[in-house]
Amino acid sequence: MNKTENINKLNNEIKSCNKCDLWKYKKNYVIGNGSLDSNIFFIGEAPGYNEDLKGIPFIGKAGKILDDLLFSIGLHRNDVYITNILKCRPPKNRNPFNNEIETCTKYLNYELDIIKPKIISTLGNFSSNFIFNKYGIKYDKISKIHGKIFKKDCIYGKLHIIPQFHPAVGVYNNTKIKTLFIDFKIIKDVINKI
Ligand code: URA
Repeated sequence: MNKTENINKLNNEIKSCNKCDLWKYKKNYVIGNGSLDSNIFFIGEAPGYNEDLKGIPFIGKAGKILDDLLFSIGLHRNDVYITNILKCRPPKNRNPFNNEIETCTKYLNYELDIIKPKIISTLGNFSSNFIFNKYGIKYDKISKIHGKIFKKDCIYGKLHIIPQFHPAVGVYNNTKIKTLFIDFKIIKDVINKI
């Protein structure tokens, strides 16, 4: 099967998932979006109100910031792949529970296996923590590790993990938004080298 067939199969599986309780509250499952051939893979936390309505990740206020950040390094969301730790919106946007992360990241692991990115940029604490654990890197808080490059060898080559603050922190925090724009340049530098 090619990438499109694999991802379609996975997305069909996601769309009938009832492995935790979140499916009961959601309007739509929010599946990954963007280019399956991209080297760059972004992971957010969980769908919010707008994403739940449309079934597309990062299309609300945080999504607008992500679009601007991508634009600042010459990219469009169609050039990258964007997904979340959770595929269903938690009620009132509460933080994901551990059992939800454990269950739902099975899908994220398949997305990574299919796309085989060279750069994984984790957006916020939850996705950074998950990816650091997955690749056996010691995790420190996001305020310490944002904008740094963590290299890891994996079965298909060298992986660059670049944690970022979650774009949602930029909605009300001007300092953090400046940091996000600075940190995104690191992604550009890595793209130019790989
Ligand atoms: N925040 C996220 O982490 N993901 C989305 O899709 C939207 C907002």
